[in-house]
Amino acid sequence: MSNQGNRQTPQTGRLYQFKLVLLGESAVGKSSLVLRFVKDQFDDYRESTIGAAFLTQTIGLDNNTTVKFEIWDTAGQERYKSLAPMYYRNANCAVVVYDITQASSLEKAKSWVKELQRQADPNIVIALAGNKSDLSARRVIDTEEAKAYADDTGLLFFETSAKTATNVNELFTSIARKMPLDQLAANS
Ligand code: GDP
Repeated sequence: MSNQGNRQTPQTGRLYQFKLVLLGESAVGKSSLVLRFVKDQFDDYRESTIGAAFLTQTIGLDNNTTVKFEIWDTAGQERYKSLAPMYYRNANCAVVVYDITQASSLEKAKSWVKELQRQADPNIVIALAGNKSDLSARRVIDTEEAKAYADDTGLLFFETSAKTATNVNELFTSIARKMPLDQLAANS
């Protein structure tokens, strides 16, 4: 399956490293998405973020190319104060997360996207993730509405579930594929 990203691919060939930040309202599942992607785990009873500084995960693409993400979680700062622009200023890519069962979380996600477009690197690759897609009975945000917004704004878009692992690897792999690798010098 050469077309699929592969998290287990050893780091051979060309290695590109990027800073990826997670943004979004508290409790939408940012840390859970990272935990699923990096460790393939989910914890139903976890407290809302008390995150580590950052974690790394690699994705092997075709042509012997490996993308390494240095993934920064907000560590819950969004609950107490606004996040320092330092957090995302030198980010190469961002996952802006909302919760499909919380209407306010899409509005918050949109405001993060605006802030990134104003303040972050103009070449930043942004993905919008509608998380908790397993909670379909409690859905209040329409897939089509969010997708139309993402398309209009030039964002990658996935509905994800950190709980059931739905679309989590796909989300990060599609970001890896969208990074402008040929314009960058490889790290090794
Ligand atoms: P954060 O504050 O955005 O980092 O959110 P967390 O990752 O701490 O998750 C907040 C709560 O939502 C926790 O109780 C998680 O177990 C739960 N959660 C996260 N992702 C999912 C998901 O995809 N489905 C369901 N059902 N619950 C989730």
